Amino acid sequence: MADFEIAVIGAGVVGLAIAARLSRQHPSLVLLEKNEKYGMETSSHNSEVIHAGIYYAPGTLKARFCIEGRDELYALCSTHHIDHRKLTKLISATNEAELNKLESIRQNAEKNGVTLEFLDKQAALRLEPNIRTEGALFSPLTGIISVHGLMDYFFHTTNTNGGTIQHRCRAAGIRKENHGYEIDLDEDGQRSSITSEIVINAAGLGSDLIAEMVGIDIEKENLKLNYVKGSYFAITPSKSNFVARLVYPVPANEGLGVHALKDLGGKLKFGPDVEYLEGRTLDYRVDETKRHAFAESIRRILPGIDDEDITPDMCGIRPKLQKKGGPARDFVIVHETERGLEGFVNLIGIESPGLTSSPAIARYVEKLLF
Ligand SMILES: Cc1cc2nc3c(=O)[nH]c(=O)nc-3n(C[C@H](O)[C@H](O)[C@H](O)COP(=O)(O)OP(=O)(O)OC[C@H]3O[C@@H](n4cnc5c(N)ncnc54)[C@H](O)[C@@H]3O)c2cc1C
Repeated sequence: MADFEIAVIGAGVVGLAIAARLSRQHPSLVLLEKNEKYGMETSSHNSEVIHAGIYYAPGTLKARFCIEGRDELYALCSTHHIDHRKLTKLISATNEAELNKLESIRQNAEKNGVTLEFLDKQAALRLEPNIRTEGALFSPLTGIISVHGLMDYFFHTTNTNGGTIQHRCRAAGIRKENHGYEIDLDEDGQRSSITSEIVINAAGLGSDLIAEMVGIDIEKENLKLNYVKGSYFAITPSKSNFVARLVYPVPANEGLGVHALKDLGGKLKFGPDVEYLEGRTLDYRVDETKRHAFAESIRRILPGIDDEDITPDMCGIRPKLQKKGGPARDFVIVHETERGLEGFVNLIGIESPGLTSSPAIARYVEKLLF
């Protein structure tokens, strides 16, 4: 008999959501996290936006889970008093070509079941008098959330259900056995192992390496992650009330474009940019030399911001399957039975909208397994 029925690798918001959900019926669950506390990587280095589900291609897992997760998050936040605000959002066009693109964004959102309202220049300026705009889409369902509040909720739910969370515990190797898997653990240099009938790989930036441990050729299967940094600059407090809601440009390439974000404390920041990294080190410093380029991007949305009004703030690293300049990729969430890995679930490439999607992903993983 295995030590645990379920082992979840990675205690970011996704692993925590899965652990909280599955531990209700399956308390013989262990959540393995290599850092000293849960949620120290991508889940605490992001925009904390509850996305409405506007941009994702209809029919993708990203579109489906974003919309399901959004509604579930708002409900969870209300019931369990998790700090959040339905701030709403504008996608602002600044020229004729962008105005045309707004219509295709609106139609895409509509296919996903998300209704956006077109505002002409005057109407957009009535909402946000300081922005540069020729017209905008208004998203009533976009909001912000305390991701720490959400992760604390998932953590305590897992504990209350009888699940176990082991911090400072890195999964260092995995072998398929007759009735499940043996996982080698590295706890501050001390080696041990556990067995589990089911393994769920929710290791974020390390998820492709976990897949490799069970023999999946991640190069051949196109599952190797690219690390893509996104930096933010904060606006001086005296100008933080220049906008009241989230304001996005019309997206251009891999990201949604540097946009205006308000956090729950009222701080105004802009980001994230898109920087494909060469290696796999987690360097969370923000490059000060980006200041002028950032200020220029910001002025495209908010003309009244000078270079001296902004300071380096924070950054996050996206676990992206999409190669630089390559086509967009969907989340990979698979029960790997076809590879002969019964009971092994991979979650790879869980970039944005992974936070918004987290409760819906957890429900999906439960369905895949039980
Ligand atoms: C700049 C940026 C902005 C974003 N903005 C938004 C947003 O506004 N809204 C939104 O919905 N989404 C957003 N996202 C996406 C969202 O943050 C992620 O999709 C989500 O946090 C992914 O959670 P996760 O649990 O999969 O990964 P993570 O938070 O990375 O958690 C994975 C965990 O696995 C652990 N781990 C890795 N390897 C091992 C191992 N071998 N053994 C044990 N533990 C291991 C790690 O330490 C980590 O704690 C953004 C992302 C970025 C980078």
